[in-house]
This record gives sequence, structure tokens and C-alpha cells, in this order.
Amino acid sequence: MTLREKDPVVVVGAGIVGVCCALYLLRDGHRVVLVDRGAPGEGTSFGNGSIITEEAVVPVQTPGVAWKVPGMLADPLGPLSIRWSYLPKLAPWLLHFIRASRPQRVEEVSIALARLLDGSLTAYKPLVEAAGIAGMIRRSGWVSVYETESGFKSYEPMLELQRRRGVNFEVLPAEELRQLEPSLAPIFCRGVFYPDVAHTVDNFRFVQELAAAFVRLGGTIRQQSVTGFQQDENGVSAVITQSDRVACSGVVIAAGAWSGPLAAMLGSRLPLDTERGYHLTLPHAGADLRLPVYSTERGFVCTPLENGLRIAGTVELGGLEAEPNWQRAEVLYRNANRWFPGLDRREESRWMGYRPSMPDSVPVIGASPRHRNAVFAFGHGHCGLSLAARTGDLVAALIADRDPGIDMTPYRPDRF
Ligand SMILES: Cc1cc2nc3c(=O)[nH]c(=O)nc-3n(C[C@H](O)[C@H](O)[C@H](O)COP(=O)(O)OP(=O)(O)OC[C@H]3O[C@@H](n4cnc5c(N)ncnc54)[C@H](O)[C@@H]3O)c2cc1C
Repeated sequence: MTLREKDPVVVVGAGIVGVCCALYLLRDGHRVVLVDRGAPGEGTSFGNGSIITEEAVVPVQTPGVAWKVPGMLADPLGPLSIRWSYLPKLAPWLLHFIRASRPQRVEEVSIALARLLDGSLTAYKPLVEAAGIAGMIRRSGWVSVYETESGFKSYEPMLELQRRRGVNFEVLPAEELRQLEPSLAPIFCRGVFYPDVAHTVDNFRFVQELAAAFVRLGGTIRQQSVTGFQQDENGVSAVITQSDRVACSGVVIAAGAWSGPLAAMLGSRLPLDTERGYHLTLPHAGADLRLPVYSTERGFVCTPLENGLRIAGTVELGGLEAEPNWQRAEVLYRNANRWFPGLDRREESRWMGYRPSMPDSVPVIGASPRHRNAVFAFGHGHCGLSLAARTGDLVAALIADRDPGIDMTPYRPDRF
């Protein structure tokens, strides 16, 4: 990496990924400026399921997904749905997505994900210690639950994939599932317990605390919208915002689902799109969960947070512009209420967010092919909270021209 001297490294985007990149760069002794059009953590990192997992080695595009596309179009409330009106714009991404669902490619992707996920919790250690928030991470494990034997059977090939990647899990019969999580209604035939999965007690406060630590440790945050870059034969020399010009020695693009146009300005057109997801947070839910509970059949998670029960998930391929379909949040409630009957909705809040998603489920982490002092760090899809610290560590290594410790080829921006 060729860094210009003296000027700071500018990180664009103060979501969980950008904040962790900024903290790792600070640890390396750089001056760092974090630029976001809003306050830290108010993008997609605001409302996720709070899960930090090293086990997410199964991509979204599992084999046979092409046959499910008509169903995704037909059911706007399904766990994975596509908005008709967005189909023309989505088509190139969808083709990559379907191509990446070939069994051989799924195997490769799961290996690439496993290498990235390995150590993702450990990578948080220095950051949460510096911020004094190690206690915000709970290592309770999580359990995925199956309502039907056929649902479980259809997921078995993915359990095999997890087994091949060395994921630690235990299949539980109904009775043992009830003992593990007594608050669940007796409607499940099986559970799969993943003991090594962790969660934060509040994912939004988590980002805010990390961002506050970044400032305490000497970093600068600017609340501005990035509109362009000053570029020459030596790389990017400044980041242009709507009201300013910030000279830089290097730049990291970590603007989540909005990174596409910024990468394009730096010469890379990437198939980044968004998988929209929804959440409900119930401060008085009345369900006393010991650990997060997840359903692969219905595509959502219930996580016990310090401020209530978070019900989060589902995928809607509908782009960045369309209005939310709040009926999807109602479906989340109905499903969760079957698991924990009588959920109290007083003072509930609802939210929709934009997962930054590459069609092969692998984030982009690597130097821009045009400018060696520009690094891309986006496209973390369903795993941005899990992978943020690990990404920060890798980005700092790339900026410092250090050996990142893993082969970065699968994450390169020019892989498409
Ligand atoms: C319902 C749901 C549940 C999820 N559950 C989990 C989970 O349990 N575990 C997990 O690991 N992941 C989960 N995810 C995924 C995770 O939330 C995302 O992968 C992650 O938040 C992405 O972080 P980010 O920093 O890349 O993006 P963001 O958090 O979106 O941050 C990007 C930032 O860039 C800023 N920005 C954009 N453009 C510009 C610009 N031009 N100028 C200045 N600033 C700009 C935005 O304002 C924003 O703050 C979930 C996602 C959803 C939607």
C-alpha cells in the first residue's frame, strides 16, 4: 500500500464496519478521520439481530435457490421475497446470485466465509477492552429451531456443510430443546444448539460506545456526506464532502449498502445490492429468553437485549428507494408470538434496514484496482456485526502493507 505522508486516513461510513476499521487504523498509529452523513451506527448497524457468530459459513444462495425465485416473487411476505417493481434493476445481481449457488461455488464460498469468520470474536477483544464494554458481549450460544421434520431434513445438507467447516453444534430432540430454552412454546420437533455464538446486549449502543472510544483515543468524526474524491496518478489525495475537502493519505470505503456509487467513482463497478430486513423491539415482551433463538425456515431471530426483545430478520430484495412494507414486520410479530405466546407490544418500535449484500455472500475487502491507497470494506450482508472487527484488522494490515495472515483473493473487489 502506497500511503501519502502526514495526512490522515479517511474512513467513509461510521457503521459497525467503518468504526472498527477506524479503531484498528488508530491502533496502528495513523491519524484517522471518520466521515458519515449521520451519527455513528444509524445506518444498518442500528437495528440488526445483535448476533456475533463465527459459524455463519452457509451463504444465502444455497444450491437450488434458482427454483425458489418464482415463489419469492409471488409472496411479498415470505422469508425471502423479491419486489416485482425492482426486478429489472436487480436482474444482474440475481444472475450472479444464482450462478453462485452451484454446489462447487457454495463450497468455495463457505471456505472463504469460514476463513474470515475464524477469529471474528477475538478481533473484537482489543476494541471492546479499549472502550470498556467487554461486558456488552454475552457468550450464551444460540439455538436454531425447526417446527417440522421436513424443514429440518431440508436443512440437513447445510448442517453437513457446517460440519465440513468444523462448526461446533449439537442436534437436540424436542425435549432437550425445551430444557435449553424453557420459554419456547412446545411446537418444535428439533433444535440445533451452537454453543460458540455470542450476542451483544444492544448492538446500537455497542457501535456508539466504540465510536466514542475512537474519539477518546484521538480520532476525529465529521458528520458530512461524501460526494467525491480528488484523484491523481499517486492515488486518492482528498475526500470531497458536500461542504468540505479532507486531504487524506489513504481512504477506506465502508459505507455499507451505499458504497456502490463511491466505489464506482474510484473506478470499480461492483454488483452490490441490498437485502432489506425488518425488526421489532418489544421493551415489555414478557418472554424470558436465556439465549437467542433462530429459525432457518422463517428467516428470523429473537434476541434478548438489555432494552427488550429484538425480533429481526427476513430478506426483501427491493433496493434502497422503495418504502418499507410494514406488513413484513407484522409477520415477524405473528411468528414470534407463536414461539412465545402473549408477547406484549406496549411501546414497541419497528425498523427496516439495508443489508449491504454481494451476490456471492462474500464481502469485498481489498484495495481498489485503480488506487492502491483506497481500500474497500463493504458487502457484509447478514454478517456485518460479526465480521466488523475482523475486517478492521484486515483493512489496517492492507493499509500498512502487512501480511493479513489469510489469502485475501476470495474477497477482492475485482473477482466479478
Ligand atoms: C434485520 C437485520 C438483522 C441483522 N442481523 C445481524 C446479526 O444478528 N448479526 C450480524 O452480524 N449482522 C446482522 N445484520 C447485518 C448487519 O447489520 C450489517 O451487515 C451491518 O450493519 C453493515 O454494517 P456497515 O457498517 O457495513 O453498514 P451501515 O451500518 O449501514 O453503515 C454505513 C454508513 O455509511 C454511511 N454513508 C453511506 N453513504 C455515505 C456517504 N456518501 N457519505 C457519508 N456517509 C455515508 C451511512 O450513513 C451509514 O452510517 C442484520 C441486518 C438486518 C437488516
